[in-house]
Amino acid sequence: MKACVLRAPAAIETNPLGYAEVAMPRPKSGEVLVRVRACGVCRTDLHVIEGELPPRKSPVIPGHQVVGVVEKQGENARRFAVGTRVGIAWLYQTDETCEYCRSGSENLCDNPTFTGYSVDGGYAEYIVAPQDFVYVVPEGFPDEQAAPLLCAGIIGFRSLRLSGIKAGACLGFYGFGAAAHVAIQVARHWGVEMFACTRDVRHQKLALELGAAWAGGTFDDPPKKLDAAIVFAPAGEIVPAALKALKKGGALVLGGIHMSRIPSFDYQLLYQERMIRSVANNTRKDGEDFLRIAAEIPIRTHVQIFSLSEANRALNALKNDAISGAAVLHVSD
Ligand SMILES: [Zn+2]
Ligand SMILES: [Zn+2]
Repeated sequence: MKACVLRAPAAIETNPLGYAEVAMPRPKSGEVLVRVRACGVCRTDLHVIEGELPPRKSPVIPGHQVVGVVEKQGENARRFAVGTRVGIAWLYQTDETCEYCRSGSENLCDNPTFTGYSVDGGYAEYIVAPQDFVYVVPEGFPDEQAAPLLCAGIIGFRSLRLSGIKAGACLGFYGFGAAAHVAIQVARHWGVEMFACTRDVRHQKLALELGAAWAGGTFDDPPKKLDAAIVFAPAGEIVPAALKALKKGGALVLGGIHMSRIPSFDYQLLYQERMIRSVANNTRKDGEDFLRIAAEIPIRTHVQIFSLSEANRALNALKNDAISGAAVLHVSD
């Protein structure tokens, strides 16, 4: 099968993904083989490729926002009939036995595997995955539109949940890429007033189109104090700026898996019961709840489509803020 393979981490400008012929994976017991139709491109893929996340598997096929159809069932894998359209997300598998898994926080599992990082992902014509960690993709979303729901969507949704935001409250987004452009649609549905702080003018424009009351630069003060803010941009210097925009008791949620160093700041910015919280991975319940809500609203994703062989180009565009909404690789029909 064809796949985009990372042999060693390197700057994306050097186009480190090789478009190559590799052996097709075989489903083990409890796993399904999925023929990939589309795979979303996530900033986490960039962190894996550029080595900001320490390598877990090498070589590795990145990609963790997979939409495809079940091609073959492994032994003891009868949950999905052959031909069912399914999705595969970042959380590939957990041990299901550690204290976190047993207490409903499988996103914090001590022994997790992650799609496109510790196991091969969806920048490929085929992928295998444990059936218990595979999602049903709601009808009504074309493959390419559904792909960004599987990480950008799910992580944005978990970030919203952890922010504690309620109807009528003010929410800020710092960085307005794939995750924010989905999360803002959920927040609007919940009756939240939204503000976007982001450096790229195209991203500001998209935020306004999607219902933001105001959009400005990353370090501009929003016109109102915020009950909560979510930082999706991987830049630590945003943290003090976002804290400054919060009301007393406000929550700052950091949605990314990697962030540059956070500069030191005065305790005064945090005092008055403001809090900072990170988001790590997702539970299957986050995924299932979000996909249901996404279909109900319904969410409309803005996608820029690339072919599988163009993964390097898509990732370079992502790094340069040149994607409006989400980049998606079209793999097959
Ligand atoms: Zn666990
Ligand atoms: Zn992701």
